[in-house]
Order: sequence, then C-alpha cells, then structure tokens
Amino acid sequence: MTQKDFCCGLTMIGLLRSIYSEGGVLVHDVPMLVCPTCHKSHIIPDLEFDYIMLTHYCESDRVKVTSLRDAIGERKILDALAKYPEDERIRTGRRVLPQQIDAVLDLINVAKGMDDEQWHNELLDQLKKFSSYQQIKSR
Ligand SMILES: [Zn+2]
Repeated sequence: MTQKDFCCGLTMIGLLRSIYSEGGVLVHDVPMLVCPTCHKSHIIPDLEFDYIMLTHYCESDRVKVTSLRDAIGERKILDALAKYPEDERIRTGRRVLPQQIDAVLDLINVAKGMDDEQWHNELLDQLKKFSSYQQIKSR
C-alpha cells in the first residue's frame, strides 16, 4: 500500500462505483478508494492505468458506456478490492473513530513541542473537521 491509500489517518475502503471519465464516458464497475470520514475518493492506484487506457480507447471510438470489469476481467477487479479490508467505520456506522481523534491530539502535542505553528494549525483544523462530522452523524 502507498500513502495514496490513506486519508484522515486511516486506510480508505475499496468499493465498486460507476463514474464518468473527463471525456464523458460512463464507466461501470470501477474499484474506488473512499474515505468513510471525509468522503474523499479516487480510483484504486493499481487500476488507474487500466482505467485511463480504457477511457482513452472509448473516447476515440466514441463509445459512451463501458465496464472496467468487462475490459480487464473480474479477477483483477477482485484482487484490487481484496487489498482493502472492510473498515471499522463502516461496521460501526461511525464517520470518525475515537483513535483518529486521539492520534490528532497526540500530534498536536508534538507540534506544540516543536514550535511548529503551521502544522499545529493544520492539526487543529483537522480536529474541527472531525468534530463537525460527528455532529452530522448524531443529528
Ligand atoms: Zn478523509
């Protein structure tokens, strides 16, 4: 796994989605990484190249709808998704876990100790974001 697989201090989760390419091709069965905390998402890095090639060919052939699964095979899709186990945030239905908040609080102390004001402020912003997500959840 790479740094791209992490967000909000935890591993993102893998799931299949249908998305539009920049050229307007609707692509079904695209394995995406999604952060259950902030809902940021992107294509699983392993399959980014396959996705780009597929949409490139579809755009030049004027194909409007396609499926990444049909193009590269079920096996590759399942292998990519299998790298990302189910997330505790999904199982518990929580957007932010207590250990994420603990981790940020620890880092805030480190930043304070290092006198790194910029980092300190970034961490405070992250903490504020986490608490606003929790309020949305409890409403
Ligand atoms: Zn996130």
